[in-house]
Parts: sequence; C-alpha cells; structure tokens
Amino acid sequence: MILILNENADPSGPEYGQLMRRLRALPGLEVKVHRIQGELRAVTEVYLIGETKQLSAEEMQALPCVEHVVRVSEEYRILGRHSGDTRPSHFDYQGLRFGQDALHVFAGLCAVDTPRNVELMCKALKENGQVCTRMGAYKPRTSPYSFQGHGSACLGYVFELAGKYGIKIIAMEVTHESHVDEIRQALRETGSPTGVMLQIGTRNTQNFELLKAVGRQQEFPVLFKRGFGITLDESLNAAEYLASEGNSKVVFGLRGMKTNLGEPHRNFVDFAHVPVVKRLTRMPVCVDPSHSVGARARAPDGILDLMHVTAQAVLAGANMVLVDFHPDPAKALVDGPQALHLCELAHFLDDVAIARQAYAQRVEAARRYQTG
Ligand code: PEP
Ligand code: MN
Repeated sequence: MILILNENADPSGPEYGQLMRRLRALPGLEVKVHRIQGELRAVTEVYLIGETKQLSAEEMQALPCVEHVVRVSEEYRILGRHSGDTRPSHFDYQGLRFGQDALHVFAGLCAVDTPRNVELMCKALKENGQVCTRMGAYKPRTSPYSFQGHGSACLGYVFELAGKYGIKIIAMEVTHESHVDEIRQALRETGSPTGVMLQIGTRNTQNFELLKAVGRQQEFPVLFKRGFGITLDESLNAAEYLASEGNSKVVFGLRGMKTNLGEPHRNFVDFAHVPVVKRLTRMPVCVDPSHSVGARARAPDGILDLMHVTAQAVLAGANMVLVDFHPDPAKALVDGPQALHLCELAHFLDDVAIARQAYAQRVEAARRYQTG
C-alpha cells in the first residue's frame, strides 16, 4: 500500500511525526519513505510493505498528512501502475519532460572516439533542432581486446562541446558506480554545460549492486535497458531496484532480444512491448532501433530497416528513441555497421515526426470510437 502525502507534509512537523508513529506501530509492516524532488515541489510517498490486505484504505486516508491511498496489486511497487494510481507518469530534467505522452530523440555516437567527431555530431544535432544526444564513454565490450571507450578522459570535452551546441542531455552508459562520480566531477569542472541521463546497458540489467548505487542518487535520471535474455517481468523488477533505492526518474529501454530467431537482424525486435510496458508501469518507454536491427539494410521501398522499426515503435507510442549516428561510420570504433550518416539525420527525424503524427491520430481515433 502506498500513502501519497499532501503538500503540507513537513518531515519536521508534528503531524508528520504523528503519522510516522502510527504507521510504525502497525505490526509486521516495513515503512519506507520516498521523497521525490520534482521541479516545482517535492512529493512524499510512504510505502507500507508486507501484508497490507487487512488495512482499511479509509482509515489510512484519514491519517494526518495523507492525501491519497493506493493499493498495490502487482509487482513493481514504485514504478508500476496500480488501480486508483494518481502518481504521475513523467519527470522533468533539464527543462524537458519525460513521460508516457512525450517523445524525444537521442541521436548520437555509440562511442566517443575523437573531439572532432563529437563536435561534428553536436553541430549536426543543433542544425536539426535537437537538444539531446547519446555518447558512450564507458563501453561494455564482448572482447576484452576491443576498444573500451575513453572513460573519464573524454568527459571534459564531451560536456563542453555539448554545451557549445545547446545539447541539454547526454545519454551515457555507466558500468560501475565510480563512473557516476566521474561524470559528476567532470560536470562540476566544466561548469555543468549539459546534463546526463545515466544508461544501464543490457549486460548490466541484473547487476543489482550497480542498480542500487545508481538508484541511491537522484541527480541524474536513468535510461534502463531491458535484459536481452530474460523475461520482461524480470527486467521490470530489475528497474524497480532503482526506484526502491530512491530514484524513480527511470526510462525503460527496449533494445531487442538475443536469439537467432530475429536474424538477419542483430537482435529480435521487441517493440511490440512498448504499450505493454506503458500499461504495466508509469515509466516512459525508449526504443533503440540501432542495437535491435544492427545493420544499415534497406527494404525495397527505399526505407532503412532501422527507420521501419523506429516508425513502428513511435506508432505504438514510444517516448524516446536512442539511435546511433556517426560522421564516418566506416571508421567508428564501436558499432559502425549500424550507425547512420549525419546526412541522414534530417530524414530520420522527419520519419519520426510522420510516425508521431500518425500516432496522435490513432489515439484520437481510439478516443472517438470508445466514446462514440
Ligand atoms: C549502447 O547503447 O551503446 C549499448 C551498449 O546498448 P545495449 O546495452 O542495449 O547493448
Ligand atoms: Mn553500441
């Protein structure tokens, strides 16, 4: 059961103290408090964990500071969507809203290689009106002999160049909790010219200690990628680790499943799960067409497979698109074969806009047919 507290809930006030005493006196229940800092105000949610069936929602509702009571019926207590849930399905970061009704494109380098390529990428994004990007500094690679990313050494120029071209958020994977400190420090040293969305890659979906560490901070939101070889339920439970530690600013990323049944694509495209994740949870949903398709193959209609699957996801209501671009894909140190050329950025964004418009029409039609 979740108690959502009202605006006046002041942790140092007598009413709040009274509430906590009442709750802590309930036998056999763990009481966990989450304070979520929004752009305008902080919201306090109190989670009652354990056997709560015998609790009366009306009695809980009558306790001091309580605005609303939500009975949790499923897993994913914090990130999940429960009946009577009035908690928001969005969060704000760097002046941008991430939610189940928004859409943002994060086009950029799979891996940072040279300052020149970072600059060319950021410049192309600015020219196309984009304020978000992806840039990998820490790369989890299958082989220990492959390029592992420049790590903290590139952060300074990546952040400065991003700021120079008006990039507000960079999605950047971390594979160890020390990377979060390195990112924080580099941002401080460069005067925070941009923001970072920490990315948890598919290889770390169930790295619970990393999830707990990243969940303990609320400064950076998290793009959490589903595991490539586990069920959706297992991935959603893993995402919940972030929230259970305090960070519920989480975007859930679909990036394809590892099976040869998806061949010739690199991974089996799983974008049919976009509406499923939106129904089961309050997380915005991201899709990564690059790591799903893994190649620049083009269909006979002239459209790249990568753009086809992106459009399919956007048509299904996806809220974020993470996509690999590179000024010279043949020379990219990581994932060159799936990277789009900078000259394809305008077309890609246009295609996304067409699909988004069609999605809006589909939502409108659904509304019409439901009420008509
Ligand atoms: C990436 O986005 O660069 C990446 C490694 O993705 P994934 O974890 O989905 O393989
Ligand atoms: Mn990659």
